[in-house]
Amino acid sequence: MTTDDMASGSPVLPPTRSRWARARRRLLRVGAILLALVTVVGGGAYLARDRIVDFAVRKQLTGSEPDPAYLADDGRVRILTCGTGSPELSKAAQACTMVAAGGRMFLFDVGEGSARSLNNSNVDLARIDHVFLTHFHSDHFNGLGAFVNQRWNWGATTALEVSGPPGVAQVVDGINNAYTLDIGYRTDDMAKLAGEAAAATAKPVPTPIPVGQDSVRVYDEGGVTIDAVVVDHAPVEPAYGYVLRYQGKKVFVSGDTIVTPKTLPAMQDADIVVHEAYANHMVERAIPIMRDLGLDSDADIAQGTSHYHADTIALAEQAQQAGVDHLVLTHLIPYVDNIVTRTMFVSGMSDKYDGAITVAQDGTLIVL
Ligand SMILES: [Zn+2]
Ligand SMILES: [Zn+2]
Repeated sequence: MTTDDMASGSPVLPPTRSRWARARRRLLRVGAILLALVTVVGGGAYLARDRIVDFAVRKQLTGSEPDPAYLADDGRVRILTCGTGSPELSKAAQACTMVAAGGRMFLFDVGEGSARSLNNSNVDLARIDHVFLTHFHSDHFNGLGAFVNQRWNWGATTALEVSGPPGVAQVVDGINNAYTLDIGYRTDDMAKLAGEAAAATAKPVPTPIPVGQDSVRVYDEGGVTIDAVVVDHAPVEPAYGYVLRYQGKKVFVSGDTIVTPKTLPAMQDADIVVHEAYANHMVERAIPIMRDLGLDSDADIAQGTSHYHADTIALAEQAQQAGVDHLVLTHLIPYVDNIVTRTMFVSGMSDKYDGAITVAQDGTLIVL
């Protein structure tokens, strides 16, 4: 320091060091304020912890209230795609479509994840009394055990009726058997569940379609009719789709099938067709890439399944021919989970079909 510096009142420290010191003091002040804030907020939260926990619990309990609209007897038909995934595991639940009409709810197939998906859509599981299985590929029923069990815990009071092609008793009896120990433990513990033990089980209702017929009526109550119809999912036989009618509205749920003239009557003038869909153009593109990556087993499976699923383009042509109002694609192969791949999935369909097309996701709801 020079005498000139002192005389002129210049800073004692070099300029750079001085700035650093000021910045450090500011940081320390900010830190002290933050610490005080955290102490105050944290202290407040600690003192109010019981109320905060109660609030969180209350929010959790009230956040998933069943939506009464599904059970409204208002002349509307509500179609909820509760499982849109392919047989392979994906983000989506496997095969599941719920149709609500006339104050009742009907479930068509109950693949893995169906109960969780229905819960996510605020459907009251305890109020579903009928399941209609299309066929016995596992991706169409392997959520049945969980669904029956949850439905019982949610307060159902009667056994779940499970209709389906011959073979349904084998599937349902096996699931009932698998849950026997669980039912015993729970009924020992809880008197309420013991009083409703019948609801812990499912009751198989085989609905064979007589030889020479294409369909059979499997439900007729409260103005709602449901017909099981023959589809073509060879070598899986029999395989059904279902037609639900209510107040002049018609919904066809295809199950698994190729596009075939057999399903034309079921699709004819339908308001909604919920149809399985197989985008051959995407699968064919993926197969050589799978082989390139050494995924030969996946490539073989992909190659081996196209012959018994519904090609998207052929489906669009048949929907046009049948005068379908709205085509809802589900059981998506390959599973597509974003806007880009969903757009690719329906590529070319609008050239063949004038109606609306929806690539369904779990939780898609359509109200007729
Ligand atoms: Zn199948
Ligand atoms: Zn399937």
